[in-house]
Amino acid sequence: MGLRAIYFLGSIFLLSAVWAHFFSATYALYFSIFLLVLCILYQSWNQYRLLKVLKDDDLIGHRRGLGIWQEIFSNLEIKAKDWRQEILHSELEYKRFIQAVQASPNGLVMLDQEDHIEWCSNICKEHLRIDPMRDARQPITFLLRHPDFVRYMSKANFTQPLNLDFMGVNGNLMLLLQVFPYGENRKLLLSQDVTILKRNESIRQDFVANVSHELRTPLTVLNGFLETVRDLQLTEVERKKYINLMSTQSSRMLTLVEELLILTRLDSSPISPKTSVVKIADLMQRIVDDGKSLSNGNHIIRLSVMSKKNILGAESELFSAFGNLLTNAIRYTPEGGTIHVCWEDVQDGGAIYSVSDTGIGIAPEHIARVTERFYRVDRSRSRDTGGTGLGLAIVKHVAMRHSAVLNIESTLGVGSVFSIMFNKDRVNTAEVKELA
Ligand code: ADP
Repeated sequence: MGLRAIYFLGSIFLLSAVWAHFFSATYALYFSIFLLVLCILYQSWNQYRLLKVLKDDDLIGHRRGLGIWQEIFSNLEIKAKDWRQEILHSELEYKRFIQAVQASPNGLVMLDQEDHIEWCSNICKEHLRIDPMRDARQPITFLLRHPDFVRYMSKANFTQPLNLDFMGVNGNLMLLLQVFPYGENRKLLLSQDVTILKRNESIRQDFVANVSHELRTPLTVLNGFLETVRDLQLTEVERKKYINLMSTQSSRMLTLVEELLILTRLDSSPISPKTSVVKIADLMQRIVDDGKSLSNGNHIIRLSVMSKKNILGAESELFSAFGNLLTNAIRYTPEGGTIHVCWEDVQDGGAIYSVSDTGIGIAPEHIARVTERFYRVDRSRSRDTGGTGLGLAIVKHVAMRHSAVLNIESTLGVGSVFSIMFNKDRVNTAEVKELA
């Protein structure tokens, strides 16, 4: 800058000297003053321009100018472009960060020093009924008035989370809330929807309680018989009778454990692949043979295989599910009743397996629940016929694993139809041998 000024002043001096040499010294002075004024005006104009672009934040596109001004404006333009780039980058980062927070299934509320809402994620609408736009700057306890939460906030001991039973937008929720202090006395409130977790936990607890109860009953009976055999002088006939009764109880326990193992296997193994073809006609013949020996001639059992379709899936699972429905029909149909086992096509390309009986039927209020684990309409009848309460749960599970649906139609005192509907993705139309 200094050098340029020296050059400039030197040029004026030189021009004035030349002027003075050819004309007169007075004109040379006027000429110098004129050049200096010109120069001052030019500088002022450029200073004004600089001030204006800085004020208007309009630094790009002002490269025109002479000498140092050209350089000032072009440097400013480069810097402005860099800043603009940095701002765009930061904005993008910020947007990405907000998108990531919004993608989380957990709610996030930022609170200021007075516990007023500064910002919250969209999911908070569902969890806490807080609207990110409407409720900004509101005190959190003004919106979340649950006494447990108000107490949690006033105690200010945030080492443990708070479990809250809360009426969310879409129904009752179990929420896990925790506050994390940060920065200058600010707080971060996290909300997690644990409804499904809690429900699963309670299902698991019920299941363990049910299994324990189911095992305790035969064990208690068995224990009683063992004490009788040990302590009493019994005749040979009596001894045999007690041993038979004990054997019945231990078989019951064995069946229960076996069915529990089937359910565990179904729960934990991957869905049966569509690669192995299960020949349904053969499978049904075996099931009906087993059923006839269980019925011991007490029922009329008919078999109709009207479809030639097979199923892509797991044979052992289908055998267990199909067999279970027939066993139930035999157990819940009085002597002389009729049972019809059928395999037929359905219009959309699928196929349907059904077992209909003329048995005791199920009252409408129980129908939706009979597939629950350990649910029985008549506990003692189920137990007397060797039931565990797990049969239909297994059938439903197997159906689901084969993309099929279990349907139940029943009329109390008239009979029931249990059917498993397979969709066309699971059927294979290869020919099977005709049944006689
Ligand atoms: P269980 O071992 O008790 O039979 P399931 O899960 O197989 O257990 O069946 C659940 C309940 O559904 C049974 O206890 C019974 O009350 C009812 N049920 C099942 N099949 C039939 C049927 N064919 N007719 C009438 N009731 C049935």
